[in-house]
Amino acid sequence: MDVKDNIVSSESLVQFSLEYGLLRRLEEIHIPTYAEYAQVDFLYTIETYYEGFHQIFTDASKSRDGVGCAFHDPSTNINRKFRLNNHHSVFTAELFSIFKSLEYVEEKYQEFASDKILILSDSRSCLSSLSILRLDYTFTIIHKYILETLAKLKSWGLQVHFLWVKSHVGIEGNEVVDELAKQASRMDIVECRIYSPRDLIPHIKSTMFAKWEGIYNTQTKAKHYKSIQPIPVKHPWFNNKQFTRSINEEVESRDFVRVISRLRSGHTICPKYLHQIRKKTDNLCDCGEIGDLEHIILRCSKNRRNLETTIINICSILKTKYPFNLSSIMATNNPRVYYEVYKFVKNSDLII
Ligand SMILES: [Zn+2]
Repeated sequence: MDVKDNIVSSESLVQFSLEYGLLRRLEEIHIPTYAEYAQVDFLYTIETYYEGFHQIFTDASKSRDGVGCAFHDPSTNINRKFRLNNHHSVFTAELFSIFKSLEYVEEKYQEFASDKILILSDSRSCLSSLSILRLDYTFTIIHKYILETLAKLKSWGLQVHFLWVKSHVGIEGNEVVDELAKQASRMDIVECRIYSPRDLIPHIKSTMFAKWEGIYNTQTKAKHYKSIQPIPVKHPWFNNKQFTRSINEEVESRDFVRVISRLRSGHTICPKYLHQIRKKTDNLCDCGEIGDLEHIILRCSKNRRNLETTIINICSILKTKYPFNLSSIMATNNPRVYYEVYKFVKNSDLII
């Protein structure tokens, strides 16, 4: 089944369909700081602060096997596992496990010994997103379901609190639910078909890139550019971290980016190009040779003095010998080489 089939369309954003009364800070969420954790015996804290609470542990897992989540009720020994789609983020899976645990409370609370419930999750980001509601694209339909279910449980006289617990520190309920979530990620049937925009962004990005990669690799145009950039990349050449490290000022200059981009694409104002677009009657350089880009940058006798220094510098940077051609030096993506070419263009007063 295609992802598209699982997108629920709606007339307005989900946050706008929330009742006004639900838009409040959830005081019942406690996320201890790491320092608090270091100071106290946390099991002791749970026993004292939350004495008599009915505990339910939730967790999620995302691995190569898939995405899954679960909840575990130690006092009734009821566990439930849910498989999610591979595109789901672990964040959504954590949120879904909380939602499912609340549905379970709704269904079974009359059998509980207490009307005070404590949901224990090891996802800080998930609990934070519930405590401080941000009504932007991070707000999902699962947040809405959680808030609505909580309001219903509250109206029935139940108190639901949330507590963040550290994972893998020997809290038994957390260890159990961790294993259940792993098992859930390997189950066959996908239970959750609700997507948030955040879940789909990586999928959309990789699909678009693969599509573009196909076009790039099969089309026969732009031979010059392909000789410099044989494989498609996700970021423009000037986003390369090396550039900002070595030649900061020049990289920040718009002119540097403009000149190098033009040389990489081959779209420059050289006599041959001007002739092609009928802006010049012939394709010749002032020196009498054919004025293509290769000639202007690397061969023209008019620029010999500057060119000699540039060639010596490039040879030393690349540990190579002259002759080389323009495509091969532009294909290096080497910031220092680009800087040498740029200096040459500027010192020779070339208009590129
Ligand atoms: Zn020339």
